Amino acid sequence: MELLDCHSHRPEALRAVIAVSPRQAIEGVTIDGTSRLAAGLHPWWLGDNNAREEALLERAAALPTVVAIGETGLDTLRGPAMEAQLAALRRHIAVAEATGKPLIVHCVRASGPLIKLWHETAPHRVRALVHGFRGNVNVARALLEAGFYLSFGHRFNADALRFTPPERMLAETDDAPLPITDVINTMAATLGIDTTALTERLQANLSTFLS
Ligand SMILES: [Zn+2]
Repeated sequence: MELLDCHSHRPEALRAVIAVSPRQAIEGVTIDGTSRLAAGLHPWWLGDNNAREEALLERAAALPTVVAIGETGLDTLRGPAMEAQLAALRRHIAVAEATGKPLIVHCVRASGPLIKLWHETAPHRVRALVHGFRGNVNVARALLEAGFYLSFGHRFNADALRFTPPERMLAETDDAPLPITDVINTMAATLGIDTTALTERLQANLSTFLS
């Protein structure tokens, strides 16, 4: 069974990339056999000094069970000062580059600072997705031009979904207790395309993203 859900926080989620803390990844959290782990420090839970957790992140990132780095990111509505969030995100980008594993990014009303940092840290070969994308077409365009994949959950802006090139689209359940097929059904209906075709597309995209 190929992975299909690019971002979930629920260990019981199927065919999902499950975001956990570096400590959980190292200690070995129990997840479904069809799923894999992503390890990172969520911006909401960052402290003033994250050196200890960042050292754990480097260890977790090297594990074969960990296929992606994150959830990391920027949130102007919640979490510590932007400076601390940017510093942590830089760290995650460096770890992603060092391990060759892609980045899962949380971005709430912070696409400007995210794109700026992305260009500042370039050149890098890090693939990255912005998860739970609910922005409009203008924000989608800016993130796509910067090279990000966009992942859609159970709520999204329909125009932004239609605007996103099929090869840069992903789907997720995040913390919603619903099957990924529900999200994909809604996306397919919005796009006016066949659910099976969209499922195959999303599977292939996630596999490319993680390769
Ligand atoms: Zn999340």
